[in-house]
Amino acid sequence: MMILPEGGTEAEEDSAQSPWVRGTCPRCGGDQVLHHVIGMPMLEAYESSPPWVIWEGCVGSGPERECQECGHAWWPEDVGVAEVPERWYDAGTEEELPVEPAPLRVVGAVIVRGEQILIARRAPGRSAARLWEFPGGKIEPDESPQQALVREVREELGVDITVGWLIGRGEADIGDRDLHLDCYWARLEGMDPAGSTDHDRLEWVDRADLPNRDWAGPDVPIVEAIVAGAVPRFGRV
Ligand SMILES: [Zn+2]
Repeated sequence: MMILPEGGTEAEEDSAQSPWVRGTCPRCGGDQVLHHVIGMPMLEAYESSPPWVIWEGCVGSGPERECQECGHAWWPEDVGVAEVPERWYDAGTEEELPVEPAPLRVVGAVIVRGEQILIARRAPGRSAARLWEFPGGKIEPDESPQQALVREVREELGVDITVGWLIGRGEADIGDRDLHLDCYWARLEGMDPAGSTDHDRLEWVDRADLPNRDWAGPDVPIVEAIVAGAVPRFGRV
C-alpha cells in the first residue's frame, strides 16, 4: 500500500508551492546535485522541473540524491535537520501511523594541521563531562551540515574553518531518539583557538595518540577511521 506524507506527493508539493531547491552534497559540499524523483510526475511538475531533476518512474533504483562531483549518493531524509518527525498517514484508511522520532543530527570538525589533529575535552558540569570529542554541534533548520559546522566552530572556539569531505558517522541512543554525528575534515583559517565555550582543554595530538583518550561514544568510529588512515580531503574532485 502506498503511504504518502501529509499533503500529497513530493512532486505535487514542489510544483504547487516552492521552486526546486538543488541543495549541496553532504560529503564534498559540491553543488552539482542530481535529484532522482521516484514516481510519475504530474505534467506541470514534469515540464517545470530543471534539467538536474531525473524522473525515475514508479521503480526507483537507488538513493534520491546524487553528487556529480564526488559520486556520493544519499537519501535527503538522512541528511541535515529533521527535528520534527513528519506525520504519515495510511493512504487507504487515512489513519495516522506511528513514527520514529527523527535522529538528532550533529556535526563534528576534525581540524587537521600536518599530522596533528585538534581535540577537545568536555568541561565539567556538561553532558559527557571530561570525555574527549571533536568540536561541533547541532544542525539548525535550513543549514547544510557544512554551514552548521562553520557556525558551531566559530561560536565554540572563536575561529574560522574550511570544511572538507565527510569522514564518517557515529551514532548513539540518547533516550527517545538516536543521535547521528557526521564528522568532517576541517582546516583552520587564521589563528589558533584560544579556548572553548564548551571545553576545558584543547590539544593538538598526533593521529597515533588519538586512541589513548577517553572519547565520547559517537566520536569513537571517527577516531577509528582516522587511526586506520583516513586521508584528509578538501575541495572539489
Ligand atoms: Zn559530492
